[in-house]
Amino acid sequence: MTAPADADAAATRAAALAAARAHLWPPYTAPEVLDGADPLVVTHADGAWLTDADGRRYLDGISSWWAATLGHGHPRLRAALADQASRLIHVGAGGTITPVAAALAAELVAVAPAGLTRVHFSDDGSTAVEAALKIAFQFWQQNGRPARQRFLTLAGAYHGDTLGAASVAGLGGFFDTFAPLLFEVVHAPAPGQDDAHGWAEVTDQLERLIHERAGELAGVIVEPMVQGAAGMRLYPADVLRRVRAATTAVDTFLIADEVFTGYGRTGAMWACDLAGVAPDLLCTAKGFTAGTVPMAATLATARIYDGFRAAGGPVGPRALLHGHTFCGFPLGAAVAREVLSIYRDEAVLAGIPARAERMASAITYLAGVPGVRRPRALGMIGAVDLGDGGYHGARGPALREAARRRGLYLRPLGDVAYLCPPLTIPLPDLTTMLAAFVDAVTEVAS
Ligand SMILES: *Cc1c(COP(=O)(O)O)cnc(C)c1O
Repeated sequence: MTAPADADAAATRAAALAAARAHLWPPYTAPEVLDGADPLVVTHADGAWLTDADGRRYLDGISSWWAATLGHGHPRLRAALADQASRLIHVGAGGTITPVAAALAAELVAVAPAGLTRVHFSDDGSTAVEAALKIAFQFWQQNGRPARQRFLTLAGAYHGDTLGAASVAGLGGFFDTFAPLLFEVVHAPAPGQDDAHGWAEVTDQLERLIHERAGELAGVIVEPMVQGAAGMRLYPADVLRRVRAATTAVDTFLIADEVFTGYGRTGAMWACDLAGVAPDLLCTAKGFTAGTVPMAATLATARIYDGFRAAGGPVGPRALLHGHTFCGFPLGAAVAREVLSIYRDEAVLAGIPARAERMASAITYLAGVPGVRRPRALGMIGAVDLGDGGYHGARGPALREAARRRGLYLRPLGDVAYLCPPLTIPLPDLTTMLAAFVDAVTEVAS
């Protein structure tokens, strides 16, 4: 690199840092951390790579908060954005429809689990969950079961940061500050992390709770197969099947939060597919636009949708009492349609097993490294634990730095070290990523 370019890079970096320290308020970041931090100043991204202001490249080991399933800057997504932007960026969804959002709804239904035929668009994972909760709640209010006002949630659950989504969380400590603002839920237990057989017992208790509390349950909300934010905790498909069977038996709703797991993260289009289960409501975001534009969807069955029809008049008070400025955002919808067609044209799901196998063998190798615990992998998720410190585990920051020195961007969940690469990461990049991950984990674990 020539001297002037170096000087430019240093200036860009310094200006960004100064403005950030003066005015930016990043999520989950204490002011004193921002004051002293040396964050990556990212200026470009392509494929699995982030480029910083100095021109250094880093592999994106977490698909930018689990969203960039097709890597960064896919040429077809860039083109879809530009094309849609040239015609219609946005129009309010009150009393209008757009061809692009309508077509997307139909295309999404075509790939969704059986029975989900209706699509409500919103902005992000949290709003998709809020909408699902309100839909379930309002359905029972106006369809003869008004006592059904509670949701059942699993220990370790994470469903987003807004207050409704936070209410159905089961992450001990995480939302304690806001406890007085949160609504009451029915909490179901989860096994301790070391208890591989504990799930059977927990599922017995879950079934019992669903039957006992049926009269007051508007629904049961789960992250199918993987509790992401809890630390990439995997659980058996049988748990999901038994929860589905129990909710069906008492005729309450199963809400699948596929914000993280959907769009192939676990190897199937939906994690529910791995268990052969179809929920009554399904939330998707993140991979839904491949991390390109904030947009999300809540899918529902025809039965639920029909519960919002006015019995007599044309405009009933029974309509869904919920909406956002950007419901059906045309720019996002165009990208989401292109995402689905890329999944088809590039056979994205068919490419996962070869990559998942490499991820799994790196994790298996790490299982033999002293200090490494609980190796686990599913689809394009690989994780190990480096201690029992949970979110405040000290190894996370050390691992992040060790990875950064090796050209790998990670954001460990406390003591949980994990990889969540783009599903389409080229094999040579994956090999480089896994080598850096194994090296960094080995350094920090010992
Ligand atoms: C990320 C996530 C959310 C929240 O999505 P946002 O887009 O960050 O609001 C909800 N549920 C799950 C399972 C998630 O992983």
